[in-house]
Amino acid sequence: MTNIQEFTTKEVPQWCPGCGNFIILAAVKSALSQLNLETHNTVVVSGIGCSGKDSHFFRTYGFEGIHGRVLPVATGVKLSNRKLTVLGMGGDGDAYGIGLNHFIHACRRNLDITYIVHNNEIYGLTTGQVSPTSMKGMKTKSTPHGVIEQPIHPLALAIASDATFVARGYSSNMPHLTKIVAEAIEHKGFSLIDIFQLCPSWNKVNTAEWFKDRLYDINEAGHDTSDKKKAFEKALEDVNTNYEKVPIGIFYKEERATYGDELPQIKEKELINHEIENIDMSKTLARFK
Ligand code: SF4
Repeated sequence: MTNIQEFTTKEVPQWCPGCGNFIILAAVKSALSQLNLETHNTVVVSGIGCSGKDSHFFRTYGFEGIHGRVLPVATGVKLSNRKLTVLGMGGDGDAYGIGLNHFIHACRRNLDITYIVHNNEIYGLTTGQVSPTSMKGMKTKSTPHGVIEQPIHPLALAIASDATFVARGYSSNMPHLTKIVAEAIEHKGFSLIDIFQLCPSWNKVNTAEWFKDRLYDINEAGHDTSDKKKAFEKALEDVNTNYEKVPIGIFYKEERATYGDELPQIKEKELINHEIENIDMSKTLARFK
């Protein structure tokens, strides 16, 4: 097991007291350490929002991208060198708002990337506006009369888009979260972990108290993770029970060839190991003169 301190940088997070991001960060580091991963073979790509600086807190390779573009950057990294373990870390605005299109395509392509989404159901960094996952009726700074739209259902969307590993964690249950993050990283293919993340500063609806009697572990309840139809039903159970029952755990898991396994240019040889000496770029460069 790699020492967890090996994944830690000197940067100190500036999150608010009680923010769920602290536990998520600790759970991901713990999973990397349990899996005995090497820091120099791991890459963390982050986006914009309160989770945006995640890539600064891991002593791995990292890239802080722009809003909604975690997955295009992570895709480039993975396709360049398939041997790397690539984690994408973003928020609900990042993943399901501005980056939604990338999310759907990453699911169907089955890129071998682990996507960890800090879903606090609100825009935290910009001080409390509606996000794509804010519940209907929720009053925020930008929706003072309550949200009138239906929220995005990330897990149902991922399953419908053919993702091969779909899970949900909770930021106040670190052992459970660590376990599913580790399993997601080990999964060969695209894995989504949507994490209910407490934001005590701005989300006054989905609090620890709110989650307390609603959350339950579907895997402990005997859910069959190979049953896609059942997984889709479970992914909508929260909204269909008017949030009386909110499942967490691994919803769906399937083995399927990854994008890298099928792409002729890289399936035999990593892009970084291709010969470049004999490539003639002169015609291409001439077009830009
Ligand atoms: Fe965490 Fe919310 Fe504070 Fe952002 S605003 S650091 S999500 S508690």
